[in-house]
Amino acid sequence: MIVVMGRDCSDEQIDEITKRIKEWGFDVNLSKGERKTVIGVIGQQKEEVKSSLEAFPYVEKVVSVSQPFKLVSRDFQQEDSIIDIGHTQIGGEELILMVGPCAVENEQILIDTAKVARETGCQLLRGGAYKPRSSPYSFQGLGEEGLKLLKNVKDKKGLSVISEVMDKEQVNLVKDYVDILQIGTRNMQNFNLLKAVGKQEKPVLLKRGMSSTIEEWLMAAEYIMAEGNFNVILCERGIRTFETATRNTLDLSAVPVVKSKSHLPVVVDPSHGVGKSEFVSSMSKAAVAAGADGLLIEVHPSPENAISDGPQSLTFDGLRKLVNELRELAPVVGKKF
Ligand code: PEP
Ligand code: MN
Repeated sequence: MIVVMGRDCSDEQIDEITKRIKEWGFDVNLSKGERKTVIGVIGQQKEEVKSSLEAFPYVEKVVSVSQPFKLVSRDFQQEDSIIDIGHTQIGGEELILMVGPCAVENEQILIDTAKVARETGCQLLRGGAYKPRSSPYSFQGLGEEGLKLLKNVKDKKGLSVISEVMDKEQVNLVKDYVDILQIGTRNMQNFNLLKAVGKQEKPVLLKRGMSSTIEEWLMAAEYIMAEGNFNVILCERGIRTFETATRNTLDLSAVPVVKSKSHLPVVVDPSHGVGKSEFVSSMSKAAVAAGADGLLIEVHPSPENAISDGPQSLTFDGLRKLVNELRELAPVVGKKF
């Protein structure tokens, strides 16, 4: 059972509730976040305990959840979560497109991409400043300099921005520059990082681990929410299978499956899913048809010169064409774009 305390509850009120729960013979798991305080009640529970807890005016809600993931679960919250991200919201009616280069390379590329993003109605600019590369000899990203470039373009062009945070020590720095913190596939089970992004308020886009089951992915999201940050967006980006024709196997069935299990918004990254730009457009449309709330797409002014992930990056014209097609498709599946 999960007890969610009201936003303005005091430390004394939290102590009072935990004391009561312990008196009834249960163990307590307390997660005190900046936004929400959540008390997990551990032990075999009865309906009377739930109603007694609900009677406290400063208790927001008490939910019994049978799934291993609790706060993430649809049992905990039936309605879809809608998350504010800078200039827009994700998880509502609007289809959200996050576009940009794999890595922040220089200011001009960001300015040019932001211009096309604005022109086509894409809401967010993406770009990695800290890059998790398979080889230590590959470009590792511009670091804080890259974040500054993103923030400048955000301020000039009025777009929201998303960038990856790789380490718990980077969270405080990255969060001041971006609207969404991205957790990459390789870090999906970096529990200290999950806890660190859970302790702050910026929305977090959690990519699915390349070898993770849906349940493991949802449990990773639970780590973030258990620390009090309920602004979590899930991102399917392809998983490892025996297939080698594409970079990964984009598991689009994960979209309706996750939506049935969880209230959190789901975004699809077809770029890393297929690894080849020629297939990005079809999989983007398939993702929207499957019910995705948004797409994270790599776009570069000259993919052949991109420092990373050029082969899977759309050109500006490729993006324009895809956006035109998505404008027709979105209303068919109940989305606005
Ligand atoms: C990225 O978005 O550029 C990235 C590194 O993604 P992933 O973690 O899915 O590989
Ligand atoms: Mn990439």
